Order: sequence, then C-alpha cells, then structure tokens
Amino acid sequence: MPKIAVVPGDGIGPEVIEQGLRVLATLAPDLEVEHFDLGAERYLRDGTTMPPDVTARFGSEFAAVYLGALGDPRVPSNVHAKDILLGSRFQLDLFVNFRPCKLLDARYCPVKDKSEADVDFVVFRENTEGLYTGVGGQFKRGTPDEVAIEQEINTRKGVERIIRAAFAYAREHGRKRVCMSDKANAMRHGHDLWQRVFREAAAEYPEIQASHLYVDVLAMRLVQSPESFDVIVTNNLFGDIITDLGAALQGGIGLASSGNLNPGKAALFEPVHGSAPDIAGKGIANPLASILTAGMMLGYLGRRDEESRVEKAVQACLKSGRVTRELGGTLSTREATEAVLAAL
Ligand code: ATP
Repeated sequence: MPKIAVVPGDGIGPEVIEQGLRVLATLAPDLEVEHFDLGAERYLRDGTTMPPDVTARFGSEFAAVYLGALGDPRVPSNVHAKDILLGSRFQLDLFVNFRPCKLLDARYCPVKDKSEADVDFVVFRENTEGLYTGVGGQFKRGTPDEVAIEQEINTRKGVERIIRAAFAYAREHGRKRVCMSDKANAMRHGHDLWQRVFREAAAEYPEIQASHLYVDVLAMRLVQSPESFDVIVTNNLFGDIITDLGAALQGGIGLASSGNLNPGKAALFEPVHGSAPDIAGKGIANPLASILTAGMMLGYLGRRDEESRVEKAVQACLKSGRVTRELGGTLSTREATEAVLAAL
C-alpha cells in the first residue's frame, strides 16, 4: 500500500492540504498517510527545521511527499523553508521540477481568444543546478570596486537526465513535441552542452518532434501561440520564469500545481502558491491548486483515471462558478472543496 508523507507547513498550507486530503480520502482510501510536524511553528517551538532522518525516510519509506507551503513572517530568514524544501530537493536529488500548464476554463486565460485546448503543455525545469546553486562569490564587497559573481553549473549528467526525462514523459503520455529552450547564442559554453545533449537524446525518440527556441523567443511564443507547445524542457532559471508565465496562462497561482521528481525514486508535490500570510486562517484560500496537486500525485502513482477525475471535477466547479472569492466566486475553502467532492 503506497504511503504518503504529508507536510502541511505554514500559512494557508495546512488549510489547503486538508482539502486535498479530503479528496484523496474519497478517491484513494487505500493510501496510507503520515503527517510530519515541520514548518515555522515547529522551528519557533524547538529550533528544528529538517531532521536528517526524516529526509532519509521521505526517500526510502514513502511513495511521495505532499507539501502545503512554507514561509512565515515570524521567521524572516526563512531558514526552516530552505532546510525543508532545499534539503529534500538536494538530498533526494529531485532533479525534475514538473509543471503542467493546462487551462481548465477559457474564462481565466488572460490572453484573448484562447480556448482550453490551446493551453495544455508541461514544463520540465531542471531543479538541482544551473544558476541556483549559490556557486560564486563577492570581492571588495561594499566598495565602488565590488565584483559579484554568480556561476551557472551545467553538468552533462544534469543536462542529460532532465532532457531524457522530458522525452520519456512525452513518449509515455502520448505527447508529440518536445521543445528545448536555452540561450546558446549568448551563453556559449553551458548552453552549447544543452544543444549537443538535446540532439543526442532527440535521435533516440524519432517519433517525437524535437525543436529548439531561445528563451526570449519562447516567452513571446508562449503568449502568442501557447497551442504550439506540448513539452518544454529548460534550465533552472529559465524554467522558474517560464513556469510563472505558464501559471498566468492557466488562470493564476490558485490553479497551479507542481511536482519535484526523481522519477521512480522520490517525489514531492506542492501547489505553486506560497503560504499567503495575508489570508491565512480566514478560511478563504483557494484549495484548487492543492486539490489538483493531489490529483497529479495520484497520476504519478499510476492512477491516471483518478487524476483525470480530479481534473474534471475541478473543471466543473470552475465552469459553474463554484469557487473561492479571488476567482470571482463566493465560497469558503471548505465549501469549494465540497463542490469538488460533489462533482466527483
Ligand atoms: P511566496 O513568497 O512563497 O511566493 P507568498 O504567499 O508571499 O509566498 P504567493 O503564494 O505567490 O506569495 O501569493 C501571493 C498572494 O496571492 C497572496 O498573498 C494571496 O493574497 C494570494 N494567494 C496565493 N495563494 C492563494 C490561494 N490559494 N488562494 C487565494 N489567494 C491566494
């Protein structure tokens, strides 16, 4: 029986995770769930951020981790969030940041004349290297001669595994096109590696149409013709930016879900939105991103029918306006979940 580790976290995290768990209890009552008391409260209580044995257990005992959100104004350093999220990401080597961008109700797309069928792509963002490793340094800090260097790390292993994961996903899910995005015209060393590895991998997937766009062109095309994208693979920095653009195309962060994956080994799923301290505890947070994230987790566990049922139920609620206030509805967090459960 698959076991899920649950980390509700901070702010609206516990509120929205509770709703996702209600959906899971309905659709997959066989899943075993264990809660972990990690987050700002725990840190303020006893100084614990992320016990190493818990990270190890996440990797060995659980099929997936289901995380709410981390971030609390009482912990301005955000040290607990860094330890929990980055600790899991690096120790479990979750090298794929998986971000589906699917429009479930055309009304929420900010681009005019786009239908639901026009926005349905997934982004594979490299999650462990690139420009976000902290490699670099400062020299003559605080002086007029200051130098600050941020280095981009691209390893053959890292580039190859994210590109191959994108192609493997495309093949397994009947996606026809993979687009790799870089800036090889300006970043001639690291991104040349991406180009070469992409060509090598593409040759092994002849049935999939492989294409390439510089990231500036990709940003433009995503707005002009999102329908031309199926699977996008890119590095850590570009993926960070492009996935927010994707979230906007699908209707905003209240509807965006994500997975941090080491396929076949470990996985951590979380809604894209943060802890939203401004609305925490008021019972008005939109639970749909968390519910869609729970659905995505079911899909990852091989239960694709159930994933699709969750998506359809959320879609039905969006179309009938049974949603929370920030999406134009009147429902509370719990009521919005009840609407999803009724649609299920
Ligand atoms: P982070 O710094 O981690 O991004 P955050 O909470 O400051 O966290 P977001 O999650 O991007 O930032 O949220 C920005 C704002 O959007 C929130 O302050 C809140 O008003 C709104 N928001 C975010 N998530 C939700 C949600 N699930 N339901 C309703 N409003 C939300």
